[in-house]
Formats: sequence, structure tokens, C-alpha cells
Amino acid sequence: MRYSALKIFTEGLTGNKGWKPVWREPEPKKEYDVIIVGGGGHGLATAYYLSNKFGVKNVAVLEKGWIGSGNVGRNTTIIRSNYMLPGNEPFYELSMKLWEGLEQDFNYNAMVSQRGILNLYHTDPQRDAYVRRGNAMLMAGADAVLLDQDQLREECPFLDFDNARFPIKGGLAQRRGGTVRHDAVAWGYARGADAKGVDIIQNCEVTGFDIENGVCRGVETSKGSIKAKKIAVCVAGSSSRVMAKAGMRLPIESHVLQAFVSEGLKPVIPGVITFGAGHFYVSQSDKGGLVFGGDIDGYNTYAQRGNLPVVEDVCEGGMAIMPMIGRARLLRSWGGIMDMSMDGSPFIDKTHIEGLHFNGGWCYGGFKATPASGYCYAHLLAKGEPHEVATEMRLDRFERGAMIDEKGVGSQPNLH
Ligand SMILES: Cc1cc2nc3c(=O)[nH]c(=O)nc-3n(C[C@H](O)[C@H](O)[C@H](O)COP(=O)(O)OP(=O)(O)OC[C@H]3O[C@@H](n4cnc5c(N)ncnc54)[C@H](O)[C@@H]3O)c2cc1C
Repeated sequence: MRYSALKIFTEGLTGNKGWKPVWREPEPKKEYDVIIVGGGGHGLATAYYLSNKFGVKNVAVLEKGWIGSGNVGRNTTIIRSNYMLPGNEPFYELSMKLWEGLEQDFNYNAMVSQRGILNLYHTDPQRDAYVRRGNAMLMAGADAVLLDQDQLREECPFLDFDNARFPIKGGLAQRRGGTVRHDAVAWGYARGADAKGVDIIQNCEVTGFDIENGVCRGVETSKGSIKAKKIAVCVAGSSSRVMAKAGMRLPIESHVLQAFVSEGLKPVIPGVITFGAGHFYVSQSDKGGLVFGGDIDGYNTYAQRGNLPVVEDVCEGGMAIMPMIGRARLLRSWGGIMDMSMDGSPFIDKTHIEGLHFNGGWCYGGFKATPASGYCYAHLLAKGEPHEVATEMRLDRFERGAMIDEKGVGSQPNLH
């Protein structure tokens, strides 16, 4: 155990000078077995599972900024495994199980809080669709429970059940869903990977790939060339830009998504609540702020900031289900870049270039996927084959007509 009450007490009395850095700041070596491009949640989780579960330790994570500066530190922290399709649900349920054991596994407090997630329904057909989804979840070993309006009135009396435009008739709840302190996830994985010898190299941007005769042998970076037997890209919102350096064009568009936090309030929202007739989701942080979000801004961009019309649109969604939210003052907001894939589902795959691997297309649901994404990517890198819950997340699925179109809206990133 690295932290104890006694240590905190004595450090407090002696000026906090005895704490050691949680991970090293190494200079890059000339060569590694595996280079992971991107020190977000997925890159760090991949490094952690490679070194801790698959015995591959000569690994570097190259991050252009600082770890946690991307979406892993910008999301609204929701975790759930309430998917429907066989290509998705077992993967997200594996992720949920990994969340449940994560803090014991990497010995770090990530504030995993299974306070539940509730998807509201407003019409009878929507209820039927939720019944179908709930049954698919149960069949994959997840939990799901359908609540009618009376049950919901007891649990969330503050919802606007009488709204004439979008009356709330009930909800699909997943009690094991909830929230996790997002940046602690990056720090916990980083610490666990570093302890096994993984080099986490910050302020090191990958600027190109060393590709010869269809084989990728290393990367060019702002700190020089580095060789590797395997290169694993997972740069989320920068996927198209980075893979273009290897000459690849991806079925991905980058869009901005905003998040909002209100002033601190007394506990009022029991778990995560999502609006079924529009796009709005809300939870309450341990500090009391309402943490909420909605639609992507709807145009292609690599800017990590959003626009006012979407702020209004998101707040309207909140007002539609709980008018009391209109009295809370907005404290802060920010944006992150989403790697929106054409069917709303991700990729964990080899590329046609030998040695070069790709993980991306997480849209705005990749935080909950972090443990399973890292585990399955590490599996692919260590064994050369996809993990059994990630066999459909292939780059060629559009050519084969094997899309994982969870929402059935086709190739429209704004609707996924
Ligand atoms: C506002 C918002 C709310 C969200 N809410 C949720 C939610 O509630 N639940 C959920 O499941 N998901 C949510 N998401 C989505 C989730 O955050 C992402 O899908 C997920 O974090 C992406 O994976 P990552 O953590 O690895 O990405 P990132 O943290 O973005 O990591 C990618 C890293 O790659 C680095 N990089 C880029 N280019 C290079 C380069 N050339 N060289 C080296 N490094 C490079 C970046 O600097 C970055 O640190 C949300 C996202 C946002 C923005």
C-alpha cells in the first residue's frame, strides 16, 4: 500500500515534501516491442493489460500532450453496458465486469460508483424497443429492469411526468451502470503500467510512420525516430489525422461534443438519467455539480470547443424532463473531439500494413469501453488474434456489409 492515513498525516505536518512522482518521465529508447500512440484512457489501459496480464513489458506510450489531456479527462464519466447487438453487448458487459474489479486490480481509487443509469421512454413503441434491448442485455449476462411510471415517480419525483409534448411513461434501468472519476482512470492505468516498466512519454507527438514494403517498423516523433515490432494507434478524435500519415482513409468523421457542469447542489439526482425523446443525459458529481451533455455540435472539426446553439439545445433537453434544472447556474463547459464512425461502433483491428494496428471510432461512448478496449487491444497485440468479444470490430466491416448498426440509422454520424 502506497498511501495510508499515517503517511497523509505526517506529510501534512512536514510540508508534503516526501511524495514521489507516481510514474517516471523516461526518455524514449531506440526500440520497443510495442509502441502505443496516444496516452488517453484506451492507450494507457492497453499498456496496463499488455504489461500486467499478457507479459509484454518492453512497451512505450507516446502522448503528444500530457496523459489525460484528451477525451479521457473531458467526458461525462458515464459507464453502462446497455447495448443490444451481439457485436457490441458482450464487449460492453466485459467492460462493466472489468470496471467492477478495477480498483482492486490496479490498487487505485477511481471512484467507481454504480449508482445506476435510467433511460426514459415516452411512447409505447419506445417501451417495446426498450423491452427488446433489456432482454438482449439479460441474455448477455447484464442486468436490466423496466420501470413503469408509478415506480419512476417514487424513484425520481422531480421528473416532469405531465409534460404534454414528451410525457414520461417509464424507463429502462441498469442498476450496475453509473459513473467513474475519469482522470483517475488514466492515472491508475498509467501507474500500473509504469510499475511494470512501460515507458510513458509525454509531450511526444507521432508525426509519421516508418513504412517500407507494406511493413511498419517504427514511428517518427517530435523526439526522434523510434523502432518497434508492433505499433498500436489509439488517438480517439485524432484518428483520421494520424492514420492519414500512414496513407489510410478511415470510415470516421471528427466532431465536437460539449459537456457542462452546474454549480454544486445538494444531492438530488440519484444516478444517471437520459432523455428518450431527445439527446440529454445528466448525473450529479460527488461535489454536487450536475454533469450533463447532449448532441454533438454537428459539423466536422478538430477544435476542442463548442458553440452556443448546442448549449441552448442541450439545456432545452434538460428543461423538458426536469424543469427545475433551469434554476441551476452553469459553472463551466468544455468540448472534446469525437471519432464518429459510420455505424456508431468502434474498431479494434490490424490494418493492411503489417505491424500497424488501429483502435478508434468510439464516438461519444468510449469512456465506458476503456477497460475492455484496453484488454482486447492488448489481446490482439500479444496474440495476433481478436479477443472473442471483439471479433466484429473490424475495419473491413463496411465492405463486407457487416455493420454493427446499434441504432439502425445508417451512415449518419450525427444520429449515432
Ligand atoms: C464531452 C464528452 C463527454 C463524453 N461522455 C462520455 C460518457 O459519459 N461515457 C462514455 O462512455 N464516453 C464518453 N465520451 C467519450 C469518451 O471520452 C471517448 O470515447 C474516449 O475517452 C476516447 O478514448 P481515449 O480515452 O483513449 O481518448 P483520448 O483521451 O482523447 O486519448 C487520445 C490521445 O491521443 C493523443 N494524440 C493524438 N494525436 C497524437 C499524436 N499524433 N501523437 C501522440 N499522441 C496523440 C491525444 O493527445 C490524446 O491524449 C465523452 C466525450 C466527450 C468529449
